[in-house]
Amino acid sequence: MQIKIDQTKCIGCGTCVALCPDFFDLGDDNKAILKNSTAPQKDQIEAENSGCAKEAAEVCPAQCITIK
Ligand code: SF4
Repeated sequence: MQIKIDQTKCIGCGTCVALCPDFFDLGDDNKAILKNSTAPQKDQIEAENSGCAKEAAEVCPAQCITIK
């Protein structure tokens, strides 16, 4: 599955990082990034299991995390 962050909507609140540090971190510009992402903006990864990312997507106040 694919986990993706729309960084244009991210407000840098850090909720996803607090809930799911296995996947999320904040980048230098205070936008959420996905750890171990090979994408240039670190805004997406392929993962076997969404794990806690699903919970982060549900509570993100900007609703900018999508899981497909
Ligand atoms: S919870 Fe959403 S708005 Fe907050 S830092 Fe994470 S992706 Fe950005």
